Amino acid sequence: MIKLKTPIQYLSGVGPKMAKKLQRLGIENVRDLLFYFPWRYDDFSQPQKIKQLRIGQEAIIKAKILQIKLSRTRRKWMSIIEAILADDSGEIKAIWFNQPFLMKILKPGDEWLFAGRVNWDFKNKSKTITPSQYENPQTQEPMILPIYSETEGLTSKYLRKIIKPVIAQIDKLIKEFLPDNLRLQEKLLELKSALKKIHCPQNQQDISKARERLAFDELFLISLKLLINKKELLKNSATAFKIDTKLLKAFVNNLPFKLTNAQRKSAWEIIKDLSHPVPMNRLLEGDVGSGKTVVAAMAVLVAAKNKYNANSNWQSVWLAPTEILANQHFQNIYKLFKKFQIRVGLLTSANQKADLKKDDLIIGTHALLQKNISFPRLALIIVDEQHRFGVKQRAHLRQGYGGQAHLRKSEIRNPKSERNIIPHLLSLTATPIPRTLALSIYGDLNLSIIDEMPPGRQKVITRVVNPENRKKAYDFIQGQVKQGRQVFVICPLIEIQNANLSDASIGVRPNASDKVQNDNSKFKIGQNKLFDIDRKSAVEEYEKLSKNIFPDLKIGLLHGRLKSKEKSAAMKKFQQGKINILVSTAVVEVGIDIPNATVMMIEGAERFGLAQLHQFRGRVGRGKFQSYCFLFSQSWSKETKQRLSAMISCHNGFALAEKDLQIRGPGELAGIRQSGLPDLKMASLSDIILVKRARKSAEEILKNNLEKYPQLKEKLEEFKTERHWE
Ligand code: ADP
Ligand code: MG
Repeated sequence: MIKLKTPIQYLSGVGPKMAKKLQRLGIENVRDLLFYFPWRYDDFSQPQKIKQLRIGQEAIIKAKILQIKLSRTRRKWMSIIEAILADDSGEIKAIWFNQPFLMKILKPGDEWLFAGRVNWDFKNKSKTITPSQYENPQTQEPMILPIYSETEGLTSKYLRKIIKPVIAQIDKLIKEFLPDNLRLQEKLLELKSALKKIHCPQNQQDISKARERLAFDELFLISLKLLINKKELLKNSATAFKIDTKLLKAFVNNLPFKLTNAQRKSAWEIIKDLSHPVPMNRLLEGDVGSGKTVVAAMAVLVAAKNKYNANSNWQSVWLAPTEILANQHFQNIYKLFKKFQIRVGLLTSANQKADLKKDDLIIGTHALLQKNISFPRLALIIVDEQHRFGVKQRAHLRQGYGGQAHLRKSEIRNPKSERNIIPHLLSLTATPIPRTLALSIYGDLNLSIIDEMPPGRQKVITRVVNPENRKKAYDFIQGQVKQGRQVFVICPLIEIQNANLSDASIGVRPNASDKVQNDNSKFKIGQNKLFDIDRKSAVEEYEKLSKNIFPDLKIGLLHGRLKSKEKSAAMKKFQQGKINILVSTAVVEVGIDIPNATVMMIEGAERFGLAQLHQFRGRVGRGKFQSYCFLFSQSWSKETKQRLSAMISCHNGFALAEKDLQIRGPGELAGIRQSGLPDLKMASLSDIILVKRARKSAEEILKNNLEKYPQLKEKLEEFKTERHWE
């Protein structure tokens, strides 16, 4: 008898060795397995014609093997099988790496169904296919096969095999937690039936109904949790500040620029919150460069000029996701406040300049979150680039009230009201999430949007550069540097691990620390292996540029694996103009401000989401010089072309995020996946209708009293401890 909690090892066909591998996918027990959803399906019931295949496509063909041969590379002795496949429309070459055993299965003259990615062979100027699945057209197996994210030695075939017996017992395993009337009203499948259909669909409709139910569950539980958080939060109170408009005016007049209307409006919304004894929980959303810093600084000003007691004022902390950014903020904000006698301190793991007793504002990284640090007068928390906090840090931030940081728990007893006084919270993000969506998914937050850029910003001229024009791009960069400008080169990976065909073809995962927060789950693991070899790496690129391309220029290197001191040093040099070209991984993405940089060159641009590319592009064009963004790509699929050309024509982060969703469809979470939203397995935040339905249902349940639904309550507890809130 299996139970949901039964360790995966005890399932038939698993055992300790496979259990280890399954654990790598996060599958520890039967429950995890059931909730490990396929990310796509190969529908063998509808094969395509070879002639009509498009490059970059995941295709299914039904084809006869005309020839098949095995060869070995001289280096590494790796095996390559090449076959010519044919249907009545044409022929295509198929290639398998390191699977010599297939020679025993795939025989000339036999007909098979193949699923795989269509590539372009530059040398022979023809299409090829790298099949990842094959099926005998005569088998009794259902024709729609779920494809799971795989890892080394763990195939979808294997996962299908071990899930089957679990599905057979699903009635005993799964309890329904949605109240019947809600489920019927929303026309949703029962949970057990949804799980059955997601793993063993008979047709496309099964898949969509199952997805609907599972996606609804995620959004519903999130909404419910957020609404409960909000209620909890409002049981506390916060310091109501006096607003000194004269002081605020003086601050604004002292700025070297005029605030935009959107900045004024947002600042006012925030300041109004601060004047109430209710804990602020507000998200300030604004495109890269829209000027969020100064708006948040106004909130700090308010707090720092309100008396805590006769001798001291209220304190604020400003959390930045990286050392680099914390340093930069420290310098800028220090200047902003110079005339206003506000003491600013810096606290990062490398830098402990803060005086926690005396400083009015402490800027820092997550070093601020250490449990042994406390802020007795804390009244305001600012979380900058909130979406950039790592998974673990986000967990930390989410704990508590709605919930940010144990900082929020540094509460002070209010003798008059018996309520706790907790700090106000302001989160900043450049992630462009449309208002309707943000309100639903950040249900416990209020929202201010800066939807207007400061005047006079130039558009960054954006070009997709074909391989044959690479030299021209380098010449251009040389010219810019001659004029005194600086250049960013972004690469998707730190270094190519074991950069030879055989290892790469196993599908080495991109380095976890700098994991390209990648858009393209198609590249996940083991798929399209050749790409792994081509991946540009920052380290390699750095060597190439400094030795071969620009031997006379000063080149710097920045990536996530450097020590934080080394990172700061590289950044500092770049800031001071001692480095002409900075080669970096995605770590550079966050709010760095270098007005002298005019070229942003991005390698492997197809690997990044549009929102992220837009963030990179926002690193240049911040000064008075015309700036440029060059996109290099190694894929020429239609999807890549569409996405990269959107970058050329569109300069608005909100619009780009929506385009990404359109192009890649709601199934792919696109840019939003990187944004620090809950990790959803199934739901798409772009499915606004479902988001709204879930939100409405959650409100109804709460109105009706959650206590009436013990199953649901139990599920909610479970859900909180699950991965969603990491
Ligand atoms: P982000 O919203 O990406 O955090 P920042 O706050 O870093 O943007 O602002 C980007 C740059 O724009 C900074 O150099 C800042 O001084 C400048 N800036 C902010 N507001 C204005 C404005 N209203 N007019 C002109 N420049 C501004
Ligand atoms: Mg910023």
